[in-house]
Amino acid sequence: MLDFQTAPAEKKAPSAVRVVIRAERCKGCGICIKFCPEKILVLGDELNAYAYPTVKMTDEQACTHCLRCSLVCPDVVFAFLREEDAPCWKH
Ligand code: SF4
Ligand code: SF4
Repeated sequence: MLDFQTAPAEKKAPSAVRVVIRAERCKGCGICIKFCPEKILVLGDELNAYAYPTVKMTDEQACTHCLRCSLVCPDVVFAFLREEDAPCWKH
């Protein structure tokens, strides 16, 4: 029987998190920009296929992964993925 008191905990390195901004979904409303506590979201100059300016992150290292942008965005633009899952992410 496994002794949970003395069995060594399996050590696993924490996964790096990649923030994916799906610009094709963004309509440039700016809500996420207002809610980001780190002030690292801005509207870029490029337009998406629907002619909306799209949000960009100015400093990915400063992102605390607080998820506020993701919670307030009405268009589900932000995804927070483990580094190993990011390559197989489907839009
Ligand atoms: S997760 Fe938080 S800190 Fe990072 S961009 Fe979104 S609101 Fe800003
Ligand atoms: S809240 Fe969503 S749709 Fe609005 S600017 Fe931010 S990412 Fe784009």
